[in-house]
Amino acid sequence: MKQKILTGDRPTGKLHLGHYIGSLQNRVQLQHAYDQYILVADLQALTDHFDHPEKITKHIIEVVKDYLSVGIDPNQTTIFIQSRIPEIAELTIYYLNLVTLNRLSKNPTVKHEMHQKGYREAMPLGFLCYPISQAADITLFQAEWVPVGDDQLPMIEQTNEIVRRFNRIYGTKVLKECKAVLSKTSRLVGIDGKSKCSKSLGNAIALSDSPEVIKQKVFQMYTDPNHIKASHPGRVEGNVVFAYLDAFHSDQEAIASLKAHYRRGGLGDVVIKNILNDSLQLFLAPIREKRNCLNDKMVKEILHHGTAKAAQLAKKTMEMVREAMRIKFR
Ligand code: ATP
Ligand code: MG
Repeated sequence: MKQKILTGDRPTGKLHLGHYIGSLQNRVQLQHAYDQYILVADLQALTDHFDHPEKITKHIIEVVKDYLSVGIDPNQTTIFIQSRIPEIAELTIYYLNLVTLNRLSKNPTVKHEMHQKGYREAMPLGFLCYPISQAADITLFQAEWVPVGDDQLPMIEQTNEIVRRFNRIYGTKVLKECKAVLSKTSRLVGIDGKSKCSKSLGNAIALSDSPEVIKQKVFQMYTDPNHIKASHPGRVEGNVVFAYLDAFHSDQEAIASLKAHYRRGGLGDVVIKNILNDSLQLFLAPIREKRNCLNDKMVKEILHHGTAKAAQLAKKTMEMVREAMRIKFR
């Protein structure tokens, strides 16, 4: 039996290069050797978009088109909608008893996002508790591997704490611990130089951006603010263009000599931006072409089949969970 993978994305916007390099690329490779489940996390997206549910619904189809366009194969990977699996909500309720408020408020990713969203005292409980719902996602599908960016590491830790606590309290081995699968670039910086590009910050290059938009975003990228004249030495560290060249250019030796030249002086930002633009255009053109061949009907069909398959596994795990908790009624 193949080991299981569970991962997912919030349908809050178009998937971007950060998703590709941080997680999608791994999913495409792993789907052959593992039994892979990908959930479109609409429930999680609602935790900070509950006032705009139509935005979430609209992006479900778009996110799945992004999956298919990068090579996720629905015959190898089960793609499904989180809100269509009610067992996730049930399992979340049981897990809520196993986590303290104090522990949740210390989750560094949640803390950072709370600050970013300016919640302060008006923190919706749904948002605070999303790591618990994420633990339910992972364990319901018995996943041992989770391909994610490094912002998700605290969620994996939280999940494993719940697993250990559940198994100890109920004297069972029914839940499995999981491990993150990180990629070489597990956090892609934003085009504005912020530590992470993300959908909600609007600082990312989308996988479906047009050639014009890609070029425009590359030319907006934060470089070295002190590198005013091309002849002056420039800084490579913290320079977004080089971070993207490291992640996406096919010839890393050429990039190493480009960096040396930039540090010495004599290499302008326009030159490096043009090089990056060329390699991103080359990388994204086939993805965009594949996406253009997809239609909504195809995607709905894939989601329908995927959700039906995911529901079977969810039902099976929940029966084992209720049995372990001795709350099984006939
Ligand atoms: P939002 O702004 O709505 O939170 P997001 O861009 O952060 O969106 P998510 O749907 O939250 O994207 O994340 C989905 C997956 O993509 C997670 O595994 C996350 O770690 C990964 N990921 C997102 N952004 C990046 C990034 N910049 N670099 C590497 N991985 C990323
Ligand atoms: Mg996010």
